[in-house]
Amino acid sequence: MGAAVERNRLLQGLAAFCEAHPIDEKILLVPSFAVGTQILDALARSGCAHLNLRPATLFSLALEVAGPFLAADGRRLLSRAQLLAVVESACDEVLKADSYFGKLRERVGLHRALHRTLDELRRAGVAPGALPAEAFEDARKARELAALARAFDATLERIGAADAAEVFDRAARACAEPLRRIPASAHVLRPAGLELAPLEERFLASCAPVTVPLDEDSPETGSTLPALTFSHALSEENEVRGVFRRILDDGLRLDDVEIAFDDDATYRPLLYELASQYGVSCTFDDGVPVTYTRPGQGVLDYLDWIAHDFRVAALERLLADGRADLKPFQPAASRVGGIRTARFLRRARIFAGASRYVPRLDALVERERQPESEGEFGGVRDAVRAERLAAAETLRSFVKRLFSLTPTISRGRVSLPALAAACREVVGEMLTRASDLDGAAADALAGLFQQLAELPERALSCAEAANRLREAVVGLAVVSATPAPGHVHVARLSRAGYSARPRTFVLGLDEARFPGPPRQDPVLLDSERDALNRTLPAASRLGLPGLSSADERRHALRALLARVRGKVVLSFSNRDILQDAERFPSPVLLQLYREREGTPEAGYDSLAKSFGEPATFVPGGAPLDETEWWLASIRAAPGVPGLGVEVERAYPWLADAARAETERGGEAFTPWDGRLSAPQAELDPRKTKQPLSASRLEKLAKCPRAYFYEYVLDLSPPEEERSESDWLNAREFGNLLHEVLYDFMSGLRAEGLRLDPARDAARLKAAAGKKIARWRDLVPPPNLAALRAQQDELLAACDIFLRSEAENPASTPRWFEVPFGLKRASRDEPLGSPDPVEIRTPGGAFLLQGQIDRIDETGPGQYAVWDYKSGGDYAFREEDRASRPLNGGRLLQHALYRRAAAQLLSRAGTPAAEVTSGYFLTTRKGKMQRFKLDAHPADVDETLDDLFALVASGSFPHTADEADCRFCAFRSICGDVAVTAARAAKKRDSEPADPLLEPLRAIERRGV
Ligand code: SF4
Repeated sequence: MGAAVERNRLLQGLAAFCEAHPIDEKILLVPSFAVGTQILDALARSGCAHLNLRPATLFSLALEVAGPFLAADGRRLLSRAQLLAVVESACDEVLKADSYFGKLRERVGLHRALHRTLDELRRAGVAPGALPAEAFEDARKARELAALARAFDATLERIGAADAAEVFDRAARACAEPLRRIPASAHVLRPAGLELAPLEERFLASCAPVTVPLDEDSPETGSTLPALTFSHALSEENEVRGVFRRILDDGLRLDDVEIAFDDDATYRPLLYELASQYGVSCTFDDGVPVTYTRPGQGVLDYLDWIAHDFRVAALERLLADGRADLKPFQPAASRVGGIRTARFLRRARIFAGASRYVPRLDALVERERQPESEGEFGGVRDAVRAERLAAAETLRSFVKRLFSLTPTISRGRVSLPALAAACREVVGEMLTRASDLDGAAADALAGLFQQLAELPERALSCAEAANRLREAVVGLAVVSATPAPGHVHVARLSRAGYSARPRTFVLGLDEARFPGPPRQDPVLLDSERDALNRTLPAASRLGLPGLSSADERRHALRALLARVRGKVVLSFSNRDILQDAERFPSPVLLQLYREREGTPEAGYDSLAKSFGEPATFVPGGAPLDETEWWLASIRAAPGVPGLGVEVERAYPWLADAARAETERGGEAFTPWDGRLSAPQAELDPRKTKQPLSASRLEKLAKCPRAYFYEYVLDLSPPEEERSESDWLNAREFGNLLHEVLYDFMSGLRAEGLRLDPARDAARLKAAAGKKIARWRDLVPPPNLAALRAQQDELLAACDIFLRSEAENPASTPRWFEVPFGLKRASRDEPLGSPDPVEIRTPGGAFLLQGQIDRIDETGPGQYAVWDYKSGGDYAFREEDRASRPLNGGRLLQHALYRRAAAQLLSRAGTPAAEVTSGYFLTTRKGKMQRFKLDAHPADVDETLDDLFALVASGSFPHTADEADCRFCAFRSICGDVAVTAARAAKKRDSEPADPLLEPLRAIERRGV
């Protein structure tokens, strides 16, 4: 225990009363049990023994009296969330679309405001019939409020329930019988600041006709100010950091400190987050919102999922953020994480809609059961495949269970109590609990949903039902606590200052936030309350919040300052970081400064001088964690730009990064630019004899760094994000088109027919329809519009194909999709072969694998190789086709396939075939172009040798042309590609030339 508590006026009064009545029963009226506990604790620590003194809220006394009567009548007390639901059902019953509140009748905000107002009227003892129309700006409003109050009352009656007003009313009536009163021997002690509603006053007067007033420190009693300090910070976050740092700087014990604020929505979450981050133990008077826990966040994800037609985004969050408990759904002996299942969920392409889940997840599991399709490096390893299958199966089981818990949705509507019951099950069975706080939240949520599940049946749209439950969850907090040893205590202004701690911090005292603008009751305006008060007895008068709310908040601060003893730090945020705008201290601070200094004329300049240095991200004194320590050290001893010498010493890789950045900006080609320390023989395909594809060589020419990532480091980009407006991606659409053309052309050939556009249009369309159906199954479209758009694109490509074929009657299509060097069975094309072809150049030989889309016979011993392209023509600029047929190696396929086709023909018995090659751009984007490219064989050889020389020397610089990055999958790891490309060009063209980059210079010089 710390030093003895200095008594404030309330403690003095209590101590005096306890000394005068040491053994009598004494009941201290308090606003909450938490405050009462603190007062009694402070009293004991101040040296006063208090026997037979107990704190009680007036409501708890009323419940003691009224409880047996309510129980005898079968009435139960409803929670706030349940009462809100009763207000909602009253709105359903009373409000029509064209009535006064009609347009807002579905809004949760209106229900909350109505609940507040109805509760206030009931506690003031104002009967529904006592609302005169002339007091309202619109007579309909008076009628509707009265009707709502009656409907609320009737619903409570019908469902056998009661609210707080009813409890007070019952208790006051019961106290008419003397035996029901508080025993005459008990002293009811009432602190001067305790404000009661009219009905509460009535109950108090009837249950304990004699109460003992206790004096309190308050602004009205002229209490002196405690020792005040003023401080400021750069943002609210730093305000909180400033408090924690000051605790360290001043060597305070955590249980010497209390933190108070008025803006609960801002400061409680901030304090919770930062206290958790820095390991500062805190007790929160109002508890911790369940939305900070995994069960709270998880159930909100579930409700979002229901509200938005089962869109996968919410479910993905639930899985990826580790809120789903996947253990019960994992196959034996496997461990599947949330991120992986979330990735598989995206891969299933469900998008939205309950009916899509089961078939899509079944298809996903089936897909994962199939062997991996053959690629350049063969299939993935078995263990990896087993893991993937386990993830798909876990996901399917989890989702199926989630659906089995979800209530039936009929025509977009769902039963609110049934949904609440489902939430209770979801929390209990499907969400993670990783801490005690999670456990407390799960229990509280289960209790909340149980209460809501017991409400009368009510069918709402899914969005409305989810919204109602979301509101209830958001308002729920757990582990509200009284001050505890070893903990900072955190409370709102009106509840703070009772812990008798020697150091109090008050946050959020900026002009915008405190005391804040007037806040009218949106249901019952001040003007209406004023008019209403003229018709009500004095005891039932209503407050005027619009007029008094700012005063009340100022009063709460002054009352806090009056009751605390010790030192108080008043702080504010001087900057709105989001808006990048300056903030100023509240006028209340100036007033307090003047009082402290005894200078009524002091201005803001003088106040500002008292603030000292603001708390910022960089600590001035004691750091809270390692990051802060580093920030402070960097400021104290700056090293290379952006780094301190200490950082460089402690984290050499950061120093390396700084050096890398410097080297990359220079002219030399260094290890930080893609130069391996030594040539690697295993990288040279001419030595390894590993077959490679034309596209791999084109990638090397386009950007050696991209080649390095993909083929040396074996990196693959993360699963692509699919847009909901597209069905197939470019690669899939290309495959679809190839399949359609293959089926169509090979079908004609099988029947010995030459293509006739008039006759064959329907046949091609049918082939397209068949393949679309297949791909629809493989990759479900997100919606009909996306499917139609690509279906139209495909049919247009088919049309282009037919017309183009009609314009080329001289050639005979002979072979289609001719594979070479691929293990998969040749599509009965006699030219196909599992063996790669060998391509010889002056520098050596390498093995090529691939698949030729089509080979036409154009004359005796003459053949044309065609490659279908489904994209645009940007890679084939018309003006470059003759002069730059290789485009610096970016277009090698035509030249390589030409050689490959000649070899395949030769193997098949046509040894000296003349072969040309070109591209057929079959879609609207490709403008239906068909053209040949003709590169000189020596240029092809030299370009290939240059590329192999680059690889063999272990040189993988970035591309020097930013345009190469346009569709690159590695963009996200290359930084600013404009800068990267400019640097690469500078290094390639620097003088004297780096021999390692000479192959790139040669390709550039060659210009083909
Ligand atoms: S983004 Fe550009 S520089 Fe980076 S790997 Fe891709 S093509 Fe090369």
